[in-house]
Amino acid sequence: MTAHLIDGKKIAAETRKNLQIEVGELVAAGVKPGLAVILVGDNQASRTYVTNKQKSCKAIGMESVLMELPESVTEKELLNHIEELNNRDDIHGILVQLPLPDHISETKVIETISPEKDVDGFHPINIGKMMTGQNTFLPCTPFGIMQMLKYEGISITGKHAVIIGRSNIVGKPMGQLLLNENATVTYCHSKTDDLASYTREADILVAAIGKAKMITADYVKEGAVVIDVGMNRDENGKLCGDVDFTDVAGKVGSITPVPGGVGPMTITMLLYNTVQSAKNKLNYRNQG
Ligand code: NAP
Repeated sequence: MTAHLIDGKKIAAETRKNLQIEVGELVAAGVKPGLAVILVGDNQASRTYVTNKQKSCKAIGMESVLMELPESVTEKELLNHIEELNNRDDIHGILVQLPLPDHISETKVIETISPEKDVDGFHPINIGKMMTGQNTFLPCTPFGIMQMLKYEGISITGKHAVIIGRSNIVGKPMGQLLLNENATVTYCHSKTDDLASYTREADILVAAIGKAKMITADYVKEGAVVIDVGMNRDENGKLCGDVDFTDVAGKVGSITPVPGGVGPMTITMLLYNTVQSAKNKLNYRNQG
């Protein structure tokens, strides 16, 4: 059996086309969606992520503002910059690229971003809303995965979803979103005993580990849906996921590739959340 390929690039392109139309409508109504990105220090990977986010904003007609701060910026200075952006009418989304230098508290930074502009969906208020099933900004990577499952017509209700990884940005919210859609959810992590005994029971398996090609065919059930979040380098320096694609694709029903799977959807949902924030603002203005 050869698995059906879930083409994240294609789904992302279609979603962005629709977003571009919405941006045009918002601009015509006098609101140009704007995303502010704060980059602290000179981490090369962070710079690449930020550049991609900015390019993607511009490609669909959104405004993108980059604030570059030196590694030596104090926590207080950074928080002041966030407050300024919270108060700017032309900014609808604020993103602080992580990781931050050790002298700055990520928690304080996230909690200073206004929940109405928290397009990463990391603010505790937005996480609480997600947990209670309320409408809010959802964390972009798991949100993107939910969109892919929907696009593919993969039913979630009653399915056993196994998540490998319990980070605050991927694993934990992923399980919650699947639970909200009536999956039965199991979380696995580095302390899980006999990982394969859980993953082999998964109808939907999400790997968010950060270990190149760790998930081989022995870990999966025949016909399962496999979502590979990992972004790693293999022994030749080539980008690869947490799943050994060649080995696993012969056994499962559907699978996301790396690259071209979850990655393109993550940035797309950041754009989506920022457009949503601009729409919220326009609705508020029209009601007031
Ligand atoms: P993370 O914070 O490092 O979390 C990794 C998780 O994997 C942890 O919960 C850890 O368990 C678990 N883990 C590590 N080794 C394991 C093992 N041998 N067996 C079972 N579980 C194990 O990473 P993350 O931020 O969630 O990201 C995960 C991967 O996704 C990375 O490759 C990252 O680059 C990628 N990523 C991709 C996108 C995208 O858009 N494509 C977005 C975000 C992240 P413990 O909690 O016990 O330590």
